[in-house]
Amino acid sequence: MNRKYKKLTLLMVIVLMMGVLSYNFINGRKAKSHSEKTTKQQVSNTKESSTVKNKNETAENNEKDREFKDGILKYNDKSVPVIMYHSIDYEAGNELRVPKEKFREQMKYLKDNGYTTLTLGELYNFMFNNKPVPEKSVVLTFDDGYKDNYENAYPVLKEFGFKATVFIITNCIDKDKGFLTSAQLKEMQHNGIDIESHTLNHDKLNELPYDKQLETLKGSKEFLEKLLNKKVKYIGYPYGKCNNDTVKAAKDAGYVMAFTTESGWSNKNQGIYTLNRVYVSANHDMKEFERRISNLNYNVSTTTSSKKKVKGQ
Ligand SMILES: [Zn+2]
Repeated sequence: MNRKYKKLTLLMVIVLMMGVLSYNFINGRKAKSHSEKTTKQQVSNTKESSTVKNKNETAENNEKDREFKDGILKYNDKSVPVIMYHSIDYEAGNELRVPKEKFREQMKYLKDNGYTTLTLGELYNFMFNNKPVPEKSVVLTFDDGYKDNYENAYPVLKEFGFKATVFIITNCIDKDKGFLTSAQLKEMQHNGIDIESHTLNHDKLNELPYDKQLETLKGSKEFLEKLLNKKVKYIGYPYGKCNNDTVKAAKDAGYVMAFTTESGWSNKNQGIYTLNRVYVSANHDMKEFERRISNLNYNVSTTTSSKKKVKGQ
């Protein structure tokens, strides 16, 4: 009997041990799979948070700049025509206002002739980092921020899928009827139009002391950054007017590139804070438009080699 009991007890101990072992084994697996799940969850949470972060970054930064690899390219030893427009509308006797039909014809010419319209980010990468751009590149800029830029230029730019930049007088936004509203600026920004600064009040920068220049350069930049949730990095000087203090103030305010109204294609040798632009007025016919964007020396007169100054606003 004693032996029988001993055998039975041993058997029961063995069964019990097996039970404990298998319980531990199953629970161990469960625990492992749970920890795997947790890790996966953590990874997916990290992924989600990084997606959110990326979204924020996208919203804050300007549209992604393209990298150009195909076709005939040029580097920053060459120049790029940066066209300067103001108003896109007709007004008798006002050459700063280019009629819509004329503007569309010019844009169609660019499209039909294989031109690439660069963003200012792409121009900056070209100028500052020597990233190549297509041989036939142009930059489209509009000064002041007239409401006709939205009504007349914007539909044409959208039609051709063109990039462009509008330099805004920020104190005119939502205040002056003739100028763009904040809603229009937001819409344009979402459709490939870059919004940058043209000071608070269209100030003649060269007539202001350094601290006043800094104030208007900073104020307009901060206003646009808040309104559009992006970095504002570029400025068109009103009337093209600037001096050494302007360049210093533009740098100190956080701009990385700036434009005058000095006539000519933009080249890094002009200084990245004093780049030339190509003036296009209502008085120019298509032949003159073509000449200005295809001939680097369009502004060199045959009688004198001095540069012709333009009185852009
Ligand atoms: Zn202006």
